[in-house]
Amino acid sequence: MQELNQAAAPNASRDTIDLEWANLLSPQRRGLLRRGGLLAALAASGLAGTALAQDERQAPRLKAAPGKSPWGEHTDTAPTPRPANVRPGEEHLPAAPRAYTDIESYHAHIYFDEDSFQKAALMRKWAAERFSVELGDWNTEPRGPHVTPSFYFGFTNELLPVIVPWLQLNSLGLTILIHPNTDDPRADHLYYALWVNRSQPVNGYAMKKPGPGEPRVEQIYVNTHPTVKLETARA
Ligand code: ZN
Repeated sequence: MQELNQAAAPNASRDTIDLEWANLLSPQRRGLLRRGGLLAALAASGLAGTALAQDERQAPRLKAAPGKSPWGEHTDTAPTPRPANVRPGEEHLPAAPRAYTDIESYHAHIYFDEDSFQKAALMRKWAAERFSVELGDWNTEPRGPHVTPSFYFGFTNELLPVIVPWLQLNSLGLTILIHPNTDDPRADHLYYALWVNRSQPVNGYAMKKPGPGEPRVEQIYVNTHPTVKLETARA
């Protein structure tokens, strides 16, 4: 706004400035700007980034597209359908609770990104040095139901009372999914989960129960070789 402000034109009266603004914003002027190269004109007039520039950019989007919606014209009055139950094994209200002994092992999935991978690497090293677990490979891209980079380790039920508090105190702020392994992987990931820190989406709706001949529950094959004694306050 160099040519309009008081510093650039110290003698300009308030009325002159208002008039110049009115001219700049007049329909003819706006037509000119459109025809004569909007960006150059805006740069010259100092109007880039102002209300006018935004108006010019957004105006076309405000117009509805011609034609009819493929959804028809009366979606607003369609009846509300009751969706089918997607809760695992619960087509009806269950008659009894599920036995907690259906859990045969656990997984901890640690999520990270391009900014937090070093935290993940440190935690991975610490865990492998201290616990007998099945440590998976790095997943630097989404894999299976996991929508961000991750790694995981699997562990047996006996370690649960130690691993959960250990992960709580050593997450380094990363998002961690802890899920049990039963015969229903979809439920394990979507409904039976524990989270350390914030949760994030898990794309597990297509997961299926194991087919005939496949192991009924995911097995844990320990592959770490702990060398460090677990820290305790009394150590
Ligand atoms: Zn898992």
